[in-house]
Amino acid sequence: MFVKELECLKCGETFSPSEQIYVCKECGGKLVISYDYDGISEKINREELEKRPDGVWKYRELLPISGPKNIVTLGEGGTPLIKAENLSKVLRIDDLWLKDETRNPTSSFKDRPMSVGVSKALEFGAETVCTASSGNAATALAAYSAKGGIDCYAFVPEDVPEAKLAQLALHGANVVRAAHQEKGDPSYELMKMGFKNFGWHPIPSGGAFNPYQPEGNKTMSYEICEQMNWETPDWYLVPVGAGTLLSGNAKGFFELEELGLIDEIPRIGGIQAEGCAPLVKGFKEGTDPYDIPTWEGPNTVAGGLIDPYPWDADTALPAIKKSGGTAESVSDEDILSALELLARTEGIFAEPSGAAGLAGLIKLVENGEIDRSEKAVISVTGGGLKDQKTAVELAGEIPTIKPNLEELKKLVD
Ligand SMILES: *Cc1c(COP(=O)(O)O)cnc(C)c1O
Repeated sequence: MFVKELECLKCGETFSPSEQIYVCKECGGKLVISYDYDGISEKINREELEKRPDGVWKYRELLPISGPKNIVTLGEGGTPLIKAENLSKVLRIDDLWLKDETRNPTSSFKDRPMSVGVSKALEFGAETVCTASSGNAATALAAYSAKGGIDCYAFVPEDVPEAKLAQLALHGANVVRAAHQEKGDPSYELMKMGFKNFGWHPIPSGGAFNPYQPEGNKTMSYEICEQMNWETPDWYLVPVGAGTLLSGNAKGFFELEELGLIDEIPRIGGIQAEGCAPLVKGFKEGTDPYDIPTWEGPNTVAGGLIDPYPWDADTALPAIKKSGGTAESVSDEDILSALELLARTEGIFAEPSGAAGLAGLIKLVENGEIDRSEKAVISVTGGGLKDQKTAVELAGEIPTIKPNLEELKKLVD
């Protein structure tokens, strides 16, 4: 394993990778993993990577796992990077690419971090894992726990779409809806209770309670650069909830630069929904990441982006700034029209959260922040079958006719 150390982002204390820890032993702060990049660059280079089969574990030297023995995989990652020619024409943008994360085993990018998180928990000898999630992270965790043969507790918000609950339950997770309360995040509170009182291993999607799983998100950036023949795009647009995905993606780009595999970092655009945009507000107002308040009364059609407290703003905001990027929020209307556009022009069926990156690109081009000639990659983070209620409402009424030519003619005219 090439992990050098784990460092607390709050107090600066460092720990050896041989310690079995999830948060800083001194202050409970978030841990960040660093690697021996000189050692890694002796093992991997462009030619070596091109020889290996695609997927998250192709980049195993850059992941915090000791050996192949405990790796739990369902074939995550290795998703296509698609040149969006039809969409480019409609939007009059020259060079647009889509990283189609809907193709992952449970239909969202969350399979990447959860494959790493469950593998690490097994390495630690875990029997039970727990999570707090608005749905996709929990679903992925439940699937990987099933495959890894460990118990899983999933605490989800009360109003999660039913299809997400069903998938969780069928993977054998103990699914618990956390009743809404005025202050704080009830799912996270329940997860922390499980961690403290029952010794369960916490694998939420945020990095504040588990530094290992977010590392899986780096592999998206590795793939994008490799698929672009090691030329980075000008812009990379990504939907943001807690900011974990963006932080991981950014770390992936920075690491490739450090390893000498790419020369430049793309500008990173973090996109939130207007109805829950604490990180965007913090970015625009220049707030210290630790002073960003919890968003009051979150409300958006993009369920996967409802993180009232941006747990990973402390890594996401500096990364956006370092990349020369930006953060922007989009309305539910923008998100739904991006969802429809993606489905009609490129044949990709996304859930609302998955289409938010495209909605963000459209807004940033209209604002003049992104030029139409710049090369942009958008991550489409989750599949449309995840939120069937929204899809059915958007589709509208479907006609029924008899097998009768007159009726068909009327319809076609
Ligand atoms: C979780 C999720 C996001 C946001 O990721 P964060 O790491 O919380 O910022 C975006 N899209 C989908 C589909 C998700 O499930």
